[in-house]
Amino acid sequence: MEQKLDFSILKTLTELPGISGRESAVRSYLKDLLSPYADDVRTDVMGNLIFFKKGTSDKNLLLCAHMDEVGLMIHHIDERGFLRFVTVGGIDPRTLLAQRVRVHTKKGSFLGVIGTKPAHITTEADRAKAVGVKDLCIDMGLSGEEVKKRVEIGDFAVLDRTYEEFGNGLICAKALDNRAGVFVLAEVLKALKNPFYNVYAVFTVQEEVGLRGAATAAFGIEADVALCIDTTGAADIPGCAPQDYICALGQGVGITALDARTITPERLFNALKALCDEYTIRRQIRIAPRGGNDAGAVHQSKTGIPTCGLSIPTRNIHSNVEIVSKFDVGNTFRLAYLAAQNGIKEVTL
Ligand SMILES: [Zn+2]
Repeated sequence: MEQKLDFSILKTLTELPGISGRESAVRSYLKDLLSPYADDVRTDVMGNLIFFKKGTSDKNLLLCAHMDEVGLMIHHIDERGFLRFVTVGGIDPRTLLAQRVRVHTKKGSFLGVIGTKPAHITTEADRAKAVGVKDLCIDMGLSGEEVKKRVEIGDFAVLDRTYEEFGNGLICAKALDNRAGVFVLAEVLKALKNPFYNVYAVFTVQEEVGLRGAATAAFGIEADVALCIDTTGAADIPGCAPQDYICALGQGVGITALDARTITPERLFNALKALCDEYTIRRQIRIAPRGGNDAGAVHQSKTGIPTCGLSIPTRNIHSNVEIVSKFDVGNTFRLAYLAAQNGIKEVTL
């Protein structure tokens, strides 16, 4: 089964723009990349991209990963051409100061800058003040007239950041939440050969604004069990206490026991831990009282679906310097792949 993951796919995925509700660039890339590996592919009304791969049993496994990233939507253009925006998904406005962004429009994509007052003229009071989204704007380096020829209200912007590998097998990029999970699911679909389950590999939309795509995708599929692959905060950094880490980088796949939206059923939780131990997959337990992911919507679909979130620990999550470890990505891949290929015994018997 050992397969080398093709991280050039993850690089491409992180550099594609796709805020919630505007995932088409990611969706078309995945459709082209993965169609040869599936027996069927369709896109539903919400925009979820659903691949089907026939298995050897009559049991259905739903694997999902959300395509969307947090970002900005333009809601006002002033006379001088400065763009005002709202945030889509949870972004701390402090992380937007002094950043480059890419504004995506019908006329193409354009560089913009979210500026900040120079230190020379800020006062003590300025620096102590909390930064709000209303204080920020995008400078496109163009006149108001020129901007209006290119940008329309409702266009979106994402942070402008390239994918870099550094340190001990780490990756720093934008949108690793959740292109890292999307990458794992893509690699699983590529690797499966006559899997135990009939596998629905679903790339969902609008997770960052309330698990909206996963809700309709799960409703449309008769799943016996579901695994949702996503990133999760790794607060293993100075200033955070070990009991608040949620997950730590380099410690393997995070198997969710509980988050704000889901409590993993005991049988499924134990079965996944046992699968890790049987195949020496490095794992850690994720407990995130304030986080949630697609599992929250999926497990409550229809009459209920046993569901577990598989999480890739991510430092600086929802910023343009998100960090994941290739080791954790690899272990998440192995768990999702083995669950789909061999079956999760205690759940399907
Ligand atoms: Zn996510």
